[in-house]
Amino acid sequence: MDWPAPPCCTTTAVLIILILLPLSVSADDRLAPGKPLFPNSTIVSDGGAFTLGFFSPSNSSIPAGLYLGIWYNDVPELTTVWVANRETPATNTTTLMLSLTNTPNLVLSDGDVGGRAVWMTTNVATVLGSSPPVAVLLNNGNLVIRSSNGTTLWQSFDHPTDTFLPGMKLRIQYNKPGTSDRLVSWKGPGDPSPGSFSYGGDPITFLQVILWDGERRVSRSGPWTGYLVKSERRYQQANASADIIIYLAVVDSDEEIYITYSLSDGAPHTRYVLTYFGEYLVQSWNSKTSTWLVLGKWPSPECNRYGYCGAYGYCDETAAPTPTCKCFDGFKPANTVEWTNGRFSAGCRRKEPLQGCTDGFLALPRMKSPDRFSIVGGGTSTFEECAAECNRNCSCVAYAYANLGSGRSRGDVTRCLVWSGDLVDTGKIGEELGSDTLYVRLVGVDATSSGKGTKRNVMKIVLPVLGSSFLVFVCISLAWLKLKGKREKWRKRKNVSLVGTSTSYELSEGNLSHEHEFPFIRFEEIAFATHSFSETCMIGQGGFGKVYKGLLGGQEVAVKRLSRDSQQGTKEFKNEVILIAKLQHRNLVQLLGCCAEGDEKLLIYEYLPNKSLDATLFDGSRKMLLDWATRFNIIKGVARGLLYLHQDSRLTIIHRDLKAGNVLLDAEMRPKIADFGMARIFGDNQQNASTQRVVGTYGYMAPEYAMEGVFSTKSDVYSFGVLVLEVVTGIRRNSSNQTMGFPSLIVYSWNMWKEGKTEELPDSSIMDTCSLDEVLLCIHVALLCVQENPDDRPLMSLVVFILENGSTTLPAPSRPAYFARRSIEMLQIGDDIQNSVNSFTLTEIEGR
Ligand code: ATP
Repeated sequence: MDWPAPPCCTTTAVLIILILLPLSVSADDRLAPGKPLFPNSTIVSDGGAFTLGFFSPSNSSIPAGLYLGIWYNDVPELTTVWVANRETPATNTTTLMLSLTNTPNLVLSDGDVGGRAVWMTTNVATVLGSSPPVAVLLNNGNLVIRSSNGTTLWQSFDHPTDTFLPGMKLRIQYNKPGTSDRLVSWKGPGDPSPGSFSYGGDPITFLQVILWDGERRVSRSGPWTGYLVKSERRYQQANASADIIIYLAVVDSDEEIYITYSLSDGAPHTRYVLTYFGEYLVQSWNSKTSTWLVLGKWPSPECNRYGYCGAYGYCDETAAPTPTCKCFDGFKPANTVEWTNGRFSAGCRRKEPLQGCTDGFLALPRMKSPDRFSIVGGGTSTFEECAAECNRNCSCVAYAYANLGSGRSRGDVTRCLVWSGDLVDTGKIGEELGSDTLYVRLVGVDATSSGKGTKRNVMKIVLPVLGSSFLVFVCISLAWLKLKGKREKWRKRKNVSLVGTSTSYELSEGNLSHEHEFPFIRFEEIAFATHSFSETCMIGQGGFGKVYKGLLGGQEVAVKRLSRDSQQGTKEFKNEVILIAKLQHRNLVQLLGCCAEGDEKLLIYEYLPNKSLDATLFDGSRKMLLDWATRFNIIKGVARGLLYLHQDSRLTIIHRDLKAGNVLLDAEMRPKIADFGMARIFGDNQQNASTQRVVGTYGYMAPEYAMEGVFSTKSDVYSFGVLVLEVVTGIRRNSSNQTMGFPSLIVYSWNMWKEGKTEELPDSSIMDTCSLDEVLLCIHVALLCVQENPDDRPLMSLVVFILENGSTTLPAPSRPAYFARRSIEMLQIGDDIQNSVNSFTLTEIEGR
């Protein structure tokens, strides 16, 4: 396999491999006393959806060991949903077994019979009935111990790890006071032991869900406005006839309050998972692409991270085009300079101090209520009582009221929340999302009118809320505080100057003291930025690997995840990247950072919204965006970029793969050369030398390079010539059907030139806009660039000069390389390979 098992994914899924023992799959879906499960066997649920068995995480930093877990049976990429012994991997695998005792308990022991228990079930209910119990793996992924009369005595669903499955209950509050379920992330990609992130109900108020990093709140849903709220969330699946609908509910029964969800009929495997780097994701399995698609991710957006907008500030998610921090009405930024610079943590302060109990309350509808509230009224107050409670307490600065609906035997349950400290972690979440109307005490608001007026408001808000989406408010209000730290780190790194004069040699000979000056970005940050390298973020694939769009520190970036073909070690890779990052020119794509962790090597570039030139130039409708002026600017820009690489930078860089696919266009269609350091990164660092490994794209490669492996700046000049012909004609270099049957664009152009028909060469779509002189000049230069003898080809400095200033005294081009002696062999190589890393050795070529 030439591509690493995708540690890309945020999930626990892909970083695990099944133990390489011959697995015998038990036909059964259950365990009975006296019939243990051994590492070489599994049990599969009746229906075939889930498997219970043993696995070993790959690339684990912890000592190798086996875990007992449940995973999807029909998903080829092993995806665990539950791990039993996550803190105690079993090392003695030869005697490992899972047995069901008559007590009844599931016991994982790794000694001989009666040996050391690695893990065993806890809180198993008393056995009812005299016959032996049974442990059954249900088809929803729940492992259940049942008594002989069918009573559930224990179930894995009551002991979640990092995954929340359909039908599971995530209990916010249940019969043991103060207890609630929490999902706990893995510690790392290969380490199922409990990580620092957890997700579950607020154990103090039982009115909201919280995502923690250790004890620190990372994000929060906001207090909900109704129980038994059924929410429906619809996700479109690419290439599928039906949408996935998730029905989510907060349920208040007599015994417990919990969140649960179910899926629409025919929905693929779908799950919520808390990843080891603190994202709460909803994912569904796409069997066509064999990937987990990320349907939703929390926290999001940035300003909704816990407390991000400071006291009395709120994140306005309804603001276009991006959510932003705002001050409550009657408040202004506590520190205007900081606030204007996007640092909101100082929050807001009152424009006028409160007078006291005479001030009234301003209704702020459609809000996510702040944190740190007190609950008053015992769950039975009316709206008027709630308002009066806050009104008479002069230190009460805000209140919010909701009727939560009916608890089974308790009648209507209401909640009256009051605040007497600062209002933190507030949001404005829009009408359709529904939420609280928050009443904030403010100078100048008539105290007597606020009660009545606000009641009308609250009814307007609360009632729709009862029928609205719980999931949505969980989604929108989970703020991601961790991102703050990362964003700041990223900003810091980005601002670092990359100037310097070290060469690759100096850096590798010395130490990497320059590392601190360069943005080395952690893999997990990049994975987060690209939604775990999800398909939806993928914007392209080239010979070097896949390219993803991501958001790092608020900046759009393109992430190139290199395939393992790079023969460099981490240190050399970093050296090369540091070096390449120093090349800065407006016609080169800027390299912003990199990551080298284990097998992973990633490059972070500025994101160019108009993608690669070939995608526009050869697209029937998009090519209209490229009038002649734009094309001429592209040609000149590429020439300047190449000149910089060859001559003007402190290094001489030979691109070796210049082509329309490696010219990216910014928002104004200005060109930037991409991949200019890839040849270095992929080895063969010699310049003006020969190589045994030819890297390039057929049709753009100079003959001496393709045939003999000799490369120089002049081989780049050849590629530039081919590119110019493509830009002028709008014809692909190898499109014989557009070149009157000639085998290539070069041959076609040369023939037109010879026959004096050069004026017929330009793309018909630019005929109206083009300056014939400029077009003819470009074709002439291009034909000079593709001449057979490298010495005859002009240097890029001359090319730039001619393109900028024009020329009447250019030499006539000689026959292009394609017609030369070696062209027959070149034709035999074939001309249809697109990716540049289809490298081959010279012996292979010569053998043809
Ligand atoms: P090869 O690797 O064979 O040279 P390629 O140049 O098409 O092929 P990549 O450089 O990996 O391969 O890029 C693949 C695609 O990803 C590009 O065609 C482009 O659409 C997109 N892409 C790459 N870099 C960026 C970027 N910085 N901004 C926007 N899109 C990009």
